[in-house]
Amino acid sequence: MELYDLTIHQAHELLARREISSVELTQALLDRIAAVDEKVKAYLCVLEEAALADAAAADRRRAEGEDHPLLGIPLAVKDVLTTRGIETTCGSRMLENFKPTFDATAIIKLRDAGAVLMGKTNTDEFAMGSTTENSAFFTTHNPWDLSRVPGGSSGGSAAATAAGECIAAIGSDTGGSIRQPASFCGVAGLKPTYGRVSRHGLVAFASSLDQVGALGKDVTDCALLLQTMAGHDPMDSTSAELPVPDYREGMDRSVAGIKLGVPREYFREGMQPEVEQAVRQALDVYESLGAELVDISMPHTDYCLSTYYVLAPAEASANLARFDGIRYGYSAPDAQDIWETYRKTRAEGFGPEVKRRIMLGTYALSTGYYDAYYLKAQKVRTLIKQDFDRAYAQVDALVAPTVPLTAFRIGEKIDDLLQLYLVDILTLSTNLAGICGVSIPCGMANGLPIGMQVLGNAYQEATVLRVAYAYEQATDWHLRRPPL
Ligand code: GLN
Repeated sequence: MELYDLTIHQAHELLARREISSVELTQALLDRIAAVDEKVKAYLCVLEEAALADAAAADRRRAEGEDHPLLGIPLAVKDVLTTRGIETTCGSRMLENFKPTFDATAIIKLRDAGAVLMGKTNTDEFAMGSTTENSAFFTTHNPWDLSRVPGGSSGGSAAATAAGECIAAIGSDTGGSIRQPASFCGVAGLKPTYGRVSRHGLVAFASSLDQVGALGKDVTDCALLLQTMAGHDPMDSTSAELPVPDYREGMDRSVAGIKLGVPREYFREGMQPEVEQAVRQALDVYESLGAELVDISMPHTDYCLSTYYVLAPAEASANLARFDGIRYGYSAPDAQDIWETYRKTRAEGFGPEVKRRIMLGTYALSTGYYDAYYLKAQKVRTLIKQDFDRAYAQVDALVAPTVPLTAFRIGEKIDDLLQLYLVDILTLSTNLAGICGVSIPCGMANGLPIGMQVLGNAYQEATVLRVAYAYEQATDWHLRRPPL
């Protein structure tokens, strides 16, 4: 096996036994990036020198007797998390060349653990999108088929992980942006509970939905990354003051006797038949492992899309007001007065999807429409959450497809908004309910990965990881690598 194909836990074993150094491992990944990123285009920036310096520092720490599962492990980070002195663009012209003065809390925790930062990965502009086609810079390609999208918005992180351009990666998930690209690229992607990981330094898209999470080659890697990033942070008032359990302890316990809900409404008419078939076969695997399958109805599922597309743009319109040409990033050079500065900066700095969301959101929040749209959406959000509450009163976790289809061609849906928004129909509810979920590979169709998600109640990451791990141990989908 090539060094770049290793998981975190495999690489850690070799590092701990001194069979490889972090400098060697990091160099192997830089070589891999040099060989394939021209085709995949996962990275917006590669930190060659800084990564080797991080790696050398990690090797010294290890020589002095330190150990941590992430010490010396090369990671990629979605370019929506602030990195001190390192460009943080959010895939937008608005923040081209913007260098933050501080690291996001998740980044600080990863750095303290000794992780090596390889670079920043491509994303749809301000994480708004499902394909990375909304990046202001370029589109990332799916490593399984370069003519197809990697998913999004954490498409760069998912593609980099699948292509062996990093050992694992960090992303963010507001409506599916970790799980959906994980599904399209055949890797594992974990969206933690709202409040589990600090959002300090995550550039805000929709503050009641955003969450930082992990993408890895397997479930164990997601658990290790979550372990390091989770916990209360005084810099984020929405981060929970709850103890962080040991996520790997008990992860390998049998799922015999566990109750898994199968939400009827998530097996939709019009979904790709191979996807339904793969997930149904995965359910058979769970039954053979002794899990009990329970038919569940989530009656408000059909309202998730419209609820999300009122609330997320409303919050985005407020959050993106800060990009005014005065405080951060781009400022229109030839404006005559303050109003022209605002107008030109925002007209030139934002791409079309971001503008659309700002307009939709401003409309939904404006006098006269607030009650009809925003307030109504908040009420429906409660109904969606109650669907989950009722489900978790009966079962330990839910199992469903992550996306109703496999990766489609670049350019295929970008001009058909409804088709594009529908790609996230099965992931949005998790964020609306504030709960957690992990997507793992469960099949292939025409050379493209299929993903399924295991969803758990708030702060039940340990259950979700255990259920996903049991399937992973019983199958070998997670061992496949794209033929790059
Ligand atoms: N694709 C969804 C959107 O465009 C979700 C994005 C995300 O989770 N960041 O809003």
